Amino acid sequence: MATIRERLNRVRQQINASEKRYGRQHGSVTLLAVSKTWPLADVLAAAKAGQHCFGENYVQEAATKIDACPIELEWHFIGHIQSNKSRDIANRCAWVHSVDRLKLARRLSEQRPQHLAPLNICLQVNISGERSKSGLSPGQALALAHQVSELPNLRLRGLMAIPAPTVDFNQQRATFRRVRELQQRLINQGIALDTLSMGMSGDLEAAIAEGATMVRVGTAIFGRRHYPQTERTA
Ligand SMILES: *Cc1c(COP(=O)(O)O)cnc(C)c1O
Repeated sequence: MATIRERLNRVRQQINASEKRYGRQHGSVTLLAVSKTWPLADVLAAAKAGQHCFGENYVQEAATKIDACPIELEWHFIGHIQSNKSRDIANRCAWVHSVDRLKLARRLSEQRPQHLAPLNICLQVNISGERSKSGLSPGQALALAHQVSELPNLRLRGLMAIPAPTVDFNQQRATFRRVRELQQRLINQGIALDTLSMGMSGDLEAAIAEGATMVRVGTAIFGRRHYPQTERTA
């Protein structure tokens, strides 16, 4: 079995190769290592191999891991947040990729400690229109983007999307293209955005081809997860 360092290097090579192939500037895609369900020891192994940004999905797990982490890392929250759990994220993370409603954004802004930099925000868009997925519909994005831009302790950075899974590369690209086009429409409406958070282990090349600036990769770095993909409260 490959080590975390080896798998991380493989993912970095994949990102570099995709940047080159699709005419993207070298270094324009940031790798977010998604460490949900994996212990702090694995995060530290990745950090030792040079990884700085980590993504977590579950509030309680994130809080426990971040509080126990002995070194300074950049934490991104990428999962669903119940409004009554927002404080645990507002005071620990540098980014939240999963904002899909104004109430949550307002709470994150109110709860962001004043001694920290503004919380970086992506709006999560339900780009495939899946009933089961969280995220706002593309039609709601402009209104929420304007509202979030007004909140004092947040900094709106871009959009995040999790398309319906498919192994068809062209279909992956077509969906990511719609996220990029939505981002461009918001920019044309005067909203300053610089981040497209899209692409995971199975579709990061297609995402980079369509302009992703941040890919969120778990399985390809840490291995296959064994826990159920639901919020756990332990
Ligand atoms: C789990 C997760 C990822 C990572 O997915 P992999 O397929 O393991 O790379 C990325 N983004 C979000 C929002 C996730 O929940």
